[in-house]
Amino acid sequence: MAEERCKVCGKPVKPLPYVCSYCKNVFCVEHRLPEKHGCEGLSELRNFKPVEVESLSKAISEFEAAQKKGGGFLSRLKRRFSRRG
Ligand SMILES: [Zn+2]
Ligand SMILES: [Zn+2]
Repeated sequence: MAEERCKVCGKPVKPLPYVCSYCKNVFCVEHRLPEKHGCEGLSELRNFKPVEVESLSKAISEFEAAQKKGGGFLSRLKRRFSRRG
C-alpha cells in the first residue's frame, strides 16, 4: 500500500491526507494551507485573475476560519450530502 506523503516536508500524511483544492497536491496538517506550501494553483489564480483576488482571499479566509472552528464546514457539507431526494 503506497503511503501518501506531504509534498513539502515528506512526512506521511496520517490519518488523512489533505488534498489542496488549488494544486491537487497532498499535504500534512502543517502544510495543508495554500500559503504554507506556496501553492502553485493559488499563484496561478493570482496571476491570471487579478480582479478576483479579493473574493478569492475572502473565500480562503472563510475556509480557514471554518477549519479552525473544527470541522463546522465539513459537517455542513455532510449534512448536505446526507439529505437524499
Ligand atoms: Zn508537511
Ligand atoms: Zn496548493
